[in-house]
Amino acid sequence: METTDLKAEFVRKYGRPPRVFRAPGRVNLIGEHTDYNDGFVMPCAIDFATRVAAAERSDRRIRLASLNFPGEFEFDLDEPAIETAASWARYVEGVAALLERAGHRLKGADLLIESSVPIGAGLSSSAALEVATGFAFASLAGLALEKWELAKNGQRAEHEYAGVRSGIMDQFASAFGVENHALFLDCRSLDWKPIPLRNAEFIICNTRTKHDLADGEYNQRRADCEEAARILGRKSLRDVCLAELEFRAGELSDRLLRRARHVVTENDRVLAAVKALNEGRLDEFGRLMDASHESLRADYEVSSAELDLMVEIVRGQPGVLGARMTGGGFGGCTVNLLEREASADFIENVSAAYRERTGIVPEIYVCRAARGVSEIE
Ligand code: ADP
Ligand code: MG
Repeated sequence: METTDLKAEFVRKYGRPPRVFRAPGRVNLIGEHTDYNDGFVMPCAIDFATRVAAAERSDRRIRLASLNFPGEFEFDLDEPAIETAASWARYVEGVAALLERAGHRLKGADLLIESSVPIGAGLSSSAALEVATGFAFASLAGLALEKWELAKNGQRAEHEYAGVRSGIMDQFASAFGVENHALFLDCRSLDWKPIPLRNAEFIICNTRTKHDLADGEYNQRRADCEEAARILGRKSLRDVCLAELEFRAGELSDRLLRRARHVVTENDRVLAAVKALNEGRLDEFGRLMDASHESLRADYEVSSAELDLMVEIVRGQPGVLGARMTGGGFGGCTVNLLEREASADFIENVSAAYRERTGIVPEIYVCRAARGVSEIE
């Protein structure tokens, strides 16, 4: 949808012109389930974004509708009750309520939301929604919020209003994205660096499956990691190295050992991946992606039959350097590194093979690293 069409739709609905804000989804290239362990990640923002058309009101009410979901919602900034529970609107109410709770005075507003981010596919449509609406509320109220505050506020909404105890990676990438760059982030210090992608070609394959247990399993993994760190007497798994983990393996149950081993080795892989990308060694980057998938499958147990199948099919294609599941897991997408520009053959072959084995037509996108949150002039 063109922005002019979104604006026209807004005028039809609310009778006056809006400003339009956008925030992108993200794909994580490597560093999975490490963000909530104070570890390292390397996502990039993608050129699928959530747009929020918004205009202020003279009262303190928020009205919202989405072109991607049914239902229209309304709540009052002065009434902290969650009036939108169980609907998609809870993310937006959370963002507004938490900005207010942090001491910012917002204005009432009418909102119309539209997104090109595949929803529920592990490309963080939820973070894009949180960051885009947070930026819209702040901008309408004339507040210049730091990107970190927008990102952290969105993460808090995810915790308190959506019940997912996610790390900071998704909202960070949506806020800070840099065109043609991956983002290397230390989730403890919050130091980050854009890393040029140069000629690296990443392709995203959407299995178009999502298993219901995803959110519960996510929170369970996080609890496992906290338990493992506690037993090892460390603040978080970030503070454990592989040699120490192996030496003290007997102190952990088999499950906790495997969870910890994934996090510890994945942190090492991110650091190696940064080096490989900086040195232009894409084959090494691909090897690290393969190892990441294996660790997520066998040790962290967050893959799925469809993700494993997609990885297997992709690896069978010529010119593929690496393939892994991306995002929280239990469905969603794989991210894949190709040697040269993806040929039409790659997309056709993968699509046909996956459809033949599952009966599902996958979606395949070329990943272009995009800039983070902004207003569309
Ligand atoms: P992901 O973040 O991987 O896309 P989630 O389950 O975390 O998947 O978030 C998806 C949810 O976010 C949707 O079910 C919906 O509640 C909300 N959401 C995302 N995008 C939109 C949108 N454009 N309009 C309304 N709600 C949205
Ligand atoms: Mg999400």
